[in-house]
Amino acid sequence: MDGRTMQQIKRILIVGGGTAGWMTAALLGKLFQGLYEITLIESEEIGTVGVGEATIPAIKKYNELLELDENDFVRRTQGSFKLGIEFVDWAHRGDAYFHSFGVIGQDLGWLRCHQYWLKMRAMGRAADFSAYSINSAAARANKFMRADPKMAESPIGHIAHAFQFDAGLYARYLRGYAEAHGVTRREGKVADVTLRGDDGFVESVTMADGETIAADLFIDCSGFRGLIIEQAMKTGYENWTHWLPCDRAIAVPCARTEPFTPYTRATARTAGWQWRIPLQHRTGNGHVYSSAHISDEEAEAQLLANLDGAQLADTNKLRFATGKRRQIWNRNCVAVGLASGFLEPLESTSIHLIQSTIIRLVRLLPDRGFDPATIAEFNRQTDFEYARIRDFIILHYKATSRDDTAFWRQCRDMEVPDTLQRKIDLFAANGRIFREDDELFTEESWIQVFLGQGVIPRGYDPLVDIKPEAQVEEYLGNIQRVIARCVGLMPDHAEFVAKTCAA
Ligand code: FAD
Repeated sequence: MDGRTMQQIKRILIVGGGTAGWMTAALLGKLFQGLYEITLIESEEIGTVGVGEATIPAIKKYNELLELDENDFVRRTQGSFKLGIEFVDWAHRGDAYFHSFGVIGQDLGWLRCHQYWLKMRAMGRAADFSAYSINSAAARANKFMRADPKMAESPIGHIAHAFQFDAGLYARYLRGYAEAHGVTRREGKVADVTLRGDDGFVESVTMADGETIAADLFIDCSGFRGLIIEQAMKTGYENWTHWLPCDRAIAVPCARTEPFTPYTRATARTAGWQWRIPLQHRTGNGHVYSSAHISDEEAEAQLLANLDGAQLADTNKLRFATGKRRQIWNRNCVAVGLASGFLEPLESTSIHLIQSTIIRLVRLLPDRGFDPATIAEFNRQTDFEYARIRDFIILHYKATSRDDTAFWRQCRDMEVPDTLQRKIDLFAANGRIFREDDELFTEESWIQVFLGQGVIPRGYDPLVDIKPEAQVEEYLGNIQRVIARCVGLMPDHAEFVAKTCAA
């Protein structure tokens, strides 16, 4: 390595000020104020993608790293609480199931709750699977409270929540935080990126007004365009549209409607699905669809015919290709957010991927120069995380009985990645599922989506039979009763927000 490649990293330049840019700036500012010179460039004229409002519980870890006050954060982003996602019409028309966060029942002996449930269900002696999850039962009743750590023995100690918030307000909130932690904001458009001739490292960006800004480490948060990682460095893109054919979306903000649900809803449509995200000041509506199966006009008409709430603004139309950059860290550039890739928003994973990418960068932060082994490890971990989330999303499309449109027939009949097929085959035999390494979704998530999508295993784990039937029935009955009692005591979601964090 030459001297330049080994030089100490002092200047970090973040290009882009959407959710990805400001989440990156806030965390790096918090950790490294005074150690590194951190600058963020954003262009008001270009603007942000303007969507991305539902999250998963992992975001609480990010908030903790920033030491945010959760009520203040929810108040300032017009936020609401999220216990999971309701999937309507996915397995077949007329069906609905919850993918809720957190635990389901409690483990009994060697096994998870669903194994006992499978046995009793086959005998007609079990309730709907959602009755064994405090999150699902509370969501159905529009109830919410935070987990009470003093009640570890009760389901109330195990409520797991995430948030739904206004993406614009979230970026503004984090901007204030980042600037208070020493990050310098530069308004304006990047017109050019200069790479070093000999090794292709990024040297500087040039602004439209002619100013040149150099740095040691570049973080590309420029959105789908991938200004540095793709347009300048030509890193390449792995396209997964053959597994996840949705490639367009139309979003439209609507007036707040009741009920003020503590969950996101995803309703399957003829060539995609529609989201409903309740916030304090409005309800987000959007349609994600496959342009190969429905025209933009028809997709828009379908959305407008099914809006929840009066339309507040024009529609926002977006195009994307599901997939990821071949190297999310390339030389001295790391891509974060949409610049790194995109998995469609069915399981609200993009903001999580922003967070996990920044945390991974912090864990593998270069000191002097850019060690290839460090970059390779970062990319290996990131690729693994992306691929497992991809598989989880594909499962929702693959495991369906819907055959009413060409879109659903294509999804049902498609070949899926081996890594997913292996999981489907194992679960279909007798309900076994194992979380691999650091994959994001837990066994409970996989179990709920398998069962919700109609993958009912042929049998159950033989270890179930160690317990006498009467004991298993009592165990399931107890869980259901205790959860119902707890939900009865919980406040309404609307009441909880009004009392603790109303905007
Ligand atoms: P952007 O918001 O596009 O920001 C890019 C930034 O780069 C802007 O500040 C722009 O001004 C700047 N920029 C670009 N070019 C230049 C230039 N030349 N000079 C200067 N500045 C420049 N995620 C979730 O977690 N949950 C969801 O529910 C969810 N729903 C989604 C629904 C849809 C339809 C889509 C498309 C995405 C969704 N996402 C969701 C993803 C989420 O929106 C993004 O991950 C998130 O907003 C991050 O975007 P970003 O910051 O990478 O890009």
